[in-house]
Amino acid sequence: MQNYSQSEKRMSRQEIYINVGDTDKIIAKSDNSLKVNTKLLLRYLAGADPLDDPNCRSCFHFPTCGGGCPYTRIKNEYEGDNIDVCSYIKGNMKEFLELHYLNKSK
Ligand code: SF4
Repeated sequence: MQNYSQSEKRMSRQEIYINVGDTDKIIAKSDNSLKVNTKLLLRYLAGADPLDDPNCRSCFHFPTCGGGCPYTRIKNEYEGDNIDVCSYIKGNMKEFLELHYLNKSK
């Protein structure tokens, strides 16, 4: 983690954060005082494409799920997390439809 001077801390409002407060996740600063972190930027732009996932490509739920949360997908792929990205409806369609019906028929 980098140490920031007082003036840099004052400029923190100009910084562009993906994860607010995590200086390792800074992609760039609006005043161009920091070189763009291209590796991280490309990871966020292209590292979470659900069409790269064969499970998503063949999934019935893809039109409504869209591949789940892209940030979770990136955390799984690049930071060693193992969080389920699937919609909670997957595997629970019958229960979901019953609850949906009950809610709509109130
Ligand atoms: S439910 Fe899971 S496998 Fe299906 S599209 Fe969503 S993330 Fe992909």
